[in-house]
Amino acid sequence: MNARTEDTSSYADAIQAPGTDESVWEQWPGWSDLREFPLPPRGRVVVVAAHPDDEVLGLGGTLARLAAAGHALTVVSVTDGEGSHPGSRVLRPHELARIRAEESRTALERLGAGDTEIVRLHVPDSGVHRHEDAVRRALVPLFWGAVMVAAPWTADVHSDHEAAGRAARAAACESDAPFVEYPVWMWHWARPGDPRVPWDRAARLTLPAEIHDRKRYAVEAFASQIRPLGPGAEDAAVLPPGELAHHLRPHEVVFL
Ligand SMILES: [Zn+2]
Repeated sequence: MNARTEDTSSYADAIQAPGTDESVWEQWPGWSDLREFPLPPRGRVVVVAAHPDDEVLGLGGTLARLAAAGHALTVVSVTDGEGSHPGSRVLRPHELARIRAEESRTALERLGAGDTEIVRLHVPDSGVHRHEDAVRRALVPLFWGAVMVAAPWTADVHSDHEAAGRAARAAACESDAPFVEYPVWMWHWARPGDPRVPWDRAARLTLPAEIHDRKRYAVEAFASQIRPLGPGAEDAAVLPPGELAHHLRPHEVVFL
């Protein structure tokens, strides 16, 4: 997910600014207007993540449902997420990369998706926009024959998410794979009914209780992101409880 900048006291962008409380989303009457997204026919599903946690925060429950239904799953992690704590006094970037890869693997196991194929593209964290065409080229062969591909929303207001989404959209077009986008940071910076959000393209995936429990357990695997690494401001949690709450609801949303 990765929100941190060097200066966490400034709210120069929508991600650094205080976000919309999950209770505001909970009370939104517009949920009932969203159609239910049906799972694709059985086959291979590819989920692209900009950082190793986006796939679980955005679509973890859907991954659990797909795994339970017997789909073959591939997760493509575009970056290793090594830039989540620049200036950390506890972990260096290469240590974060290793830990975050382990956390993602553990989370997938907790989702019942331990057989998921994981492909890492090792693009520099925070630099996906500079490697967008290389990401597209890497994704095309992975998308061939997939019954569905999903990637971060191209207007998520996070540079890596948007660039990964654009590359995936282009690759899906080339490989003729059905494509959906999933929002991650949107729940933080948008508000219910927000005109910046394409609600007419939105569909939701309801998570049965057992799947919802699995997702909550899976999200707990991202200890390096949801808990402080150390006492300093540079080691604070990237995902504070208020932000995490958006990803613990009993449904997920995609844009068609
Ligand atoms: Zn991310």
